[in-house]
Amino acid sequence: MPPSTPASVRVLVCDELDPIAIEELHSRGIEPLIRTGMTEDELIEALPGVHALLVRSATKITSRVLEAAKDLELIGRAGVGVDNVDVPVATSRGVVVMNTPTGNTVTTAELAISLICSLARHVPAGHRKAREGVWSKKGLMGMEITGKTLGVIGLGRIGAEVAKRGQGLCMNVIAHDPYLSATGAASPVTGVELMDLKEVLKQADVITLHVPLHDSTRNLIGAEQIAMMKPGARIINTARGGLIDESAMIKALDSGHLAGAALDVLAEEPPSKEHPLVQRDDVIVTPHLGASSKEAQVNVAIQIAQQTATFFLDGVAENAINLPAMMTAERRALGPWSRLAKAMGRFLAQRTKEPISKIEFSTLGSAQDLPQEHLERALLAGVLQQSLDRGVNLVNAPLLASERGIRMLRGESGDAGKFDGLLRARVSCKGGSESHMVGGTVFGEMLRFVRVDGADVDLDPSGPMLITRHHDRPGVVGVIGTTLGAAHINIRRVELGPGGKPGEGLSSAFLSLYDRPPMEILKAVSDLDPVVSAQLVELG
Ligand code: NAD
Repeated sequence: MPPSTPASVRVLVCDELDPIAIEELHSRGIEPLIRTGMTEDELIEALPGVHALLVRSATKITSRVLEAAKDLELIGRAGVGVDNVDVPVATSRGVVVMNTPTGNTVTTAELAISLICSLARHVPAGHRKAREGVWSKKGLMGMEITGKTLGVIGLGRIGAEVAKRGQGLCMNVIAHDPYLSATGAASPVTGVELMDLKEVLKQADVITLHVPLHDSTRNLIGAEQIAMMKPGARIINTARGGLIDESAMIKALDSGHLAGAALDVLAEEPPSKEHPLVQRDDVIVTPHLGASSKEAQVNVAIQIAQQTATFFLDGVAENAINLPAMMTAERRALGPWSRLAKAMGRFLAQRTKEPISKIEFSTLGSAQDLPQEHLERALLAGVLQQSLDRGVNLVNAPLLASERGIRMLRGESGDAGKFDGLLRARVSCKGGSESHMVGGTVFGEMLRFVRVDGADVDLDPSGPMLITRHHDRPGVVGVIGTTLGAAHINIRRVELGPGGKPGEGLSSAFLSLYDRPPMEILKAVSDLDPVVSAQLVELG
């Protein structure tokens, strides 16, 4: 059951979070459960009734965990990387995954800078010698970083902070970020030139990585890229382990082509004691310390607690990585339009007898200013809800639709006629035999269908609705009403419209009902002499 009050939101905190997160949740009326260090089996056992899991990086949210998480709506990661969460499975199960992308930016950038300095001056090796009683500089000749070239790969949040600090240390900073280059965006840091990867590798004395790990960035730095680097170059990695081909790096360190590396992250963590990179004097390894400062932990804890409360209590998903980004204010304005789109989807799915293969969706008038992708997701969720025996929501609707071969096309935009804003959707079925349309608008919080299959209407899309096509004779609606009345089914509202092609003499009626009529009453209405068809739709 989705939670309806703050006290009914069940949040399970699975990893150590700064206590400020708990205080923040309490202040919004949410009482979290805290169980850290659980095995996968223990976590699965704890899942029934849990709506949100809050994690750092220790707890792995695997597909097995997600399959057992029947009530789960949200996974909150206090931090940036979500590689401990199976995001595709979470998405297909309609679970929102959110992170706190900004909370540890500065702290991680500061670690990268301290690793650059430590590596250039052999600080850890010097400390080791001193502790062993060897007071000697032998083998510890350093490199001055002033005037050297720092190559930043990935000029996002952390990369940009590292670049600024590199400039502050009098380094010449260059960068590679294909996404910034592709959009023609100016470099986010003044004085930092964006170049292609090869050029950065060729020119930099120190390369620092700040790129997310995904299929296309795995082994971004392999043997070929290392060979392009200057002899004596150094690599810093505070992003993700899989970005570097570790065996290629070891070979280049052995040959002296690379002078050293400083790694906060490894392909496999924790590494074994014998891991060749951990054992080397020319490599500094730190145990994934990037976000480990008091300040960063407080930041991410507050952020994830606030985002969790906002998600359940205000219906706003901030920093969701499997939902399109949207400003909070935009999302609030969207509420009734999103409900309208979903109701339109439900309506159309019930109007068609065959599976839907194509949806043409238009936003008209002021509705053009709304985020169309969200409305499309809501419409799809409404369509799919009718045929699927599983949770469908804004997160998983596009995936489930494409698995079912439903194509979403953007229809023409334009003005909304006599309305301020309008949504219009037309569905076609496999084989092209059937097609239905509905148009709707919103007045404040009130939803209205204003056009159904060519007829102007004024329908409240809620509750059960009986739609009839019948011969256009006096008294037909009265007979239908009498048939329903005999079964104590009260009619809330009646709307009449044309029922067929001109000259056919058909009319239609949309009867909003208080209760759902039993099957035999529906059959009795269908069997009435003037009635050509009678269909019941449920509009929630
Ligand atoms: P971000 O999303 O702000 O920036 C990532 C940047 O990488 C983007 O600008 C993107 O365009 C760029 N990029 C993507 N693919 C690229 C490619 N092939 N080549 C070059 N650039 C590419 O992310 P962020 O907050 O700066 O975090 C960066 C990384 O740091 C993430 O992997 C995150 O997991 C990691 N991180 C590690 C720690 C730690 O504890 N060591 C802490 C925080 C973040």
